Amino acid sequence: MDDTNVLVNIKSPPATTLVSTESANAADLSFSQALNDPNAQPDEASIFVAAQRGDVELMRELINTGKASATDRDAQNITPLHWAAINAHVAACRFLLDQGAEVDALGGDLVATPMQWAARNGYLYVIQLLVAHGADPTIADSQGYNSLHLVTHSSSIMPLLYLLHQPINVDSRDSQGHTSLMWAAYQGDALSVDLLLRHGANPNLKDDAGLTPLHWAVVRGNRVAIRRLIEKGADLTAKDGEGRTPRDMAVELKSLGAWKRALEEGGMNEYGVKRGKPLSDRNTKIAIFIMPAIFFYLIFMTLTLLPWYTGILLSMAEFFGMHHIVTRVLLNKSTYTDSVNQTPYFAGIICGSILWVVFCWVTRLVQDAQSHSFAHLMFAISVGLCAYNFFRAVTLDPGTCPKPTSDEELKSIIEDLASEGRLNGQTFCIQCMARKPLRSKHCRVCDKCIARSDHHCPWVWNCVGANNHRQFLLFVTTLVVGICLFDYLTYSYFSSIPLVTDPTEISPSCPLPGDLCSITSHDSFLVSVAVWATLQLTWTFILLASQLWQVARQMTTLEVSNLGRYGFMGGRGGASLTGQMGHRHSHRQDAVLPGVDTEDTALVGDASSTSSGAVHRHSGVCAGCGSGFLMNLLGFDRFTKGKAVDGLTKASKASNPFDLGIVGNCKDFWTAGKELGVEYDKLYDVPMEGFREWKRRKEREEEEDGGRKPGGSGGRKGLFMGLGLGRAGSSRGGYEPVSQV
Ligand SMILES: [Zn+2]
Ligand SMILES: [Zn+2]
Repeated sequence: MDDTNVLVNIKSPPATTLVSTESANAADLSFSQALNDPNAQPDEASIFVAAQRGDVELMRELINTGKASATDRDAQNITPLHWAAINAHVAACRFLLDQGAEVDALGGDLVATPMQWAARNGYLYVIQLLVAHGADPTIADSQGYNSLHLVTHSSSIMPLLYLLHQPINVDSRDSQGHTSLMWAAYQGDALSVDLLLRHGANPNLKDDAGLTPLHWAVVRGNRVAIRRLIEKGADLTAKDGEGRTPRDMAVELKSLGAWKRALEEGGMNEYGVKRGKPLSDRNTKIAIFIMPAIFFYLIFMTLTLLPWYTGILLSMAEFFGMHHIVTRVLLNKSTYTDSVNQTPYFAGIICGSILWVVFCWVTRLVQDAQSHSFAHLMFAISVGLCAYNFFRAVTLDPGTCPKPTSDEELKSIIEDLASEGRLNGQTFCIQCMARKPLRSKHCRVCDKCIARSDHHCPWVWNCVGANNHRQFLLFVTTLVVGICLFDYLTYSYFSSIPLVTDPTEISPSCPLPGDLCSITSHDSFLVSVAVWATLQLTWTFILLASQLWQVARQMTTLEVSNLGRYGFMGGRGGASLTGQMGHRHSHRQDAVLPGVDTEDTALVGDASSTSSGAVHRHSGVCAGCGSGFLMNLLGFDRFTKGKAVDGLTKASKASNPFDLGIVGNCKDFWTAGKELGVEYDKLYDVPMEGFREWKRRKEREEEEDGGRKPGGSGGRKGLFMGLGLGRAGSSRGGYEPVSQV
């Protein structure tokens, strides 16, 4: 146990512990001492202070007047490039490198390079600049940490991604034999663990104490990190130097709960034994899909055959029985939301409901066809369209975004984005390892990025995106129309038949008023189906209204709920775009010492919050499991989460670059982007002149091209240049990343 205490005591000095987060920050103390030390540079500005401030003008003056040079070293053997790097002054770093600063100069207490100082804080654009100038990421400091270890310590996901695509061994070890994967696991950074594993990190290496990454993941007890390691083949029975398995350690460190949940999500019990499911994956899905139809029949029959007071109780029991069979027997999972969302359970509920509505119509209502022939015809058309569009919405690809086909392509995407100063979670999907188009979103259930993503809809067992949004909206529309017509036809059916009003013939204990009671006793099955269908009218009507409003405003559900926080996806101008794309508009020459200038902090903060955010988001989801999930199912969550109300009020003020006016927006929606002239799965930038002007220019160019060379692809090339994919030439105005200036 003593050893365990040492393991988790992060406050104890680095020399005596196996691992401590403090050790990673040890050098920072000396930075702040130096920065605050008034005696360091007593009177006037030195090149070191200028570098700390990012004051390029002062540095230029000092170098031009011969008072200093880029290769100077201060009392601690630190170069100006170190100081500019630790304070994230990209422009100052570039200036110093141009003035001949040594890129891999070793300095400070830890004998580290400027890149290591930047990596410690996860300053992506400094790292990118230094690498471009030939910095060596494999150099280790006096603690044995190379740049990859240090960037892992910073928990910044994008710099880690960038470094993993540099020539560096992903399994390189520090002086105690820890790999970056062990560090990420120890810190509980599930995203970093995932990223390192995807780049080939070995999950079964042991450090000097015999601990594997899985042991380290247990120390922090991050469920997702543990699960990722197990999925990638981490050995559950690996023993450390004292013969403890990861599970033994989980018991000692009281993180057994996370351990059990991680294994359960991987389909195992806490000892790693695979749990069986009664059916194969395919048959489980089929069974879950058809079960609601069968249970609905049972429920409606129960209500028909039994008196109301027992019928309602028993039918509710049947409903929960169906639930139990799906979640606990067929899926064999105790966690609810995600696992059920991955099955066609809710699609089965829709299908079963449609089936019994049609059954009632065929067996009862249609006999009355002469008197309401038009309504019957409309109902038949709505049901047909509803079923067809439902099927299309389920089966169509919602708009999967393309992924790079080779490692070279991926590397060049990362390099391009980093050098444009906008490699971040909005432009790059760390799960797909691909560029993320504007207005797209990574869906956790489908595990892919969806172009112009609206939301993941469990009812259609699919995401709703650019490619099936039209079918989804038609499905909801015809569903609402169909239910209204069904209710109308049911009403006229009951009005046309003679009803028994003799109280002796109908249930004496019925709480309903006389007429309702008599129609219920006449045909309980039809009444039950009609009531069930009408219940669905509530949420489908709200869904339809908000969908129509969003289509007319050229917005997706995701954008409406995010508007309060970010502004429009890829919107032009102002803070909204900075938040979205990582473009930096303002440029600070003199950030206050010893702080880092805010632009870079924002970027780094963004990256690190992405990394550790998974944990927070998870706890948030679980805390609200009950109500949140219900709201999600009913489609009300758009009004409750993500400051949607703020978003709605801001919607009228912010300018949406995709907005073409109501008619144009509807046309664009219907044609999945043709009105704007874009392919949403490959749309990476808003053209400077706006979509309308850009499309006109593109058409002009195509016409001219067509005149000269029929069928030429020149127009297409122009399209991509116009979208800002090319770095050269085109004037990008406000889009110019300031770090390039
Ligand atoms: Zn993705
Ligand atoms: Zn999805």
